[in-house]
Amino acid sequence: MSKPLLLVCPHCDAKNRLPKEKVGTAAQCGKCKASLFPNHPLELKGDRFQRHLRATDLPVLVDFWASWCAPCKRMAPIFAQANEKLKYQVRFVKLDTEQDPELARQYGIMSIPTLVLFQQGQEKARMSGVLDLGSLSGWLLQQGVNLYESP
Ligand SMILES: [Zn+2]
Repeated sequence: MSKPLLLVCPHCDAKNRLPKEKVGTAAQCGKCKASLFPNHPLELKGDRFQRHLRATDLPVLVDFWASWCAPCKRMAPIFAQANEKLKYQVRFVKLDTEQDPELARQYGIMSIPTLVLFQQGQEKARMSGVLDLGSLSGWLLQQGVNLYESP
């Protein structure tokens, strides 16, 4: 049997260990029973953001955005679509840089939208500007993210 996947519950932040063969729509948090694979990107900040980043075995893709930024608004539905399509392969997180300027500074975000890909809390790659869904998937593949492992 392969090593279980460590995931943080999107609802209650409990750490869950999920056997890989259980990855799928039925996967629930052991504590609060919420789905471990949400249909929408997670909006996180502060300590929650750090916890999800560090304790998630899936690659985590963060959209650094702000409400006043027009390109960010164009990026949002594409990011949400990517979440729907790839939720079992990638954890999609949104960070509002106005709500949490501290984290934006910490990660050296110079322009928005910026997408940053993390693996086990470590930055792997980043990309600024609006991407369409195809380019976003292509970029993730280039970074070595396995997009074909279906549940
Ligand atoms: Zn939970």
